[in-house]
Amino acid sequence: MYKIDPVPLLKESGLSVTEPRKRILMAFLQKKTILTQKDVRQLCYYQYDRVTVYRTLERFVQTQIIHIIPSTDNVARYALLNHTLKTGCLQYHLHFMCKECGQTYCLENAPVPLIVLPQGFLESEVEVVIKGICKKCN
Ligand SMILES: [Zn+2]
Ligand SMILES: [Zn+2]
Repeated sequence: MYKIDPVPLLKESGLSVTEPRKRILMAFLQKKTILTQKDVRQLCYYQYDRVTVYRTLERFVQTQIIHIIPSTDNVARYALLNHTLKTGCLQYHLHFMCKECGQTYCLENAPVPLIVLPQGFLESEVEVVIKGICKKCN
């Protein structure tokens, strides 16, 4: 079983270990689900202000600890990536957006098909979103 300890993960990602980083990463490790900035603040008992949470999440996205989940309502959502963890999502995977309920799902077992780019184009992120009707709404 994976032991929940945010410190090694921060270190592996080249981040210095700070209190907010530890706490915020902990929130993801414990919840193992998609979180908004508001969820994160709540899970940290509003100990950190909006800016701190925002910056920490940005840092986590840059270092690929978490990823941004596409949404239709402009509310940023985040989930863990499992490149170092046994939990969370594959680094590159498909997202499914339901047109009925508006919910986005990480399709963890659906890797992004290989996309060959024209010469001279360098990829830095891959985001594939499939739109349709989800299991619950179907
Ligand atoms: Zn739905
Ligand atoms: Zn995802």
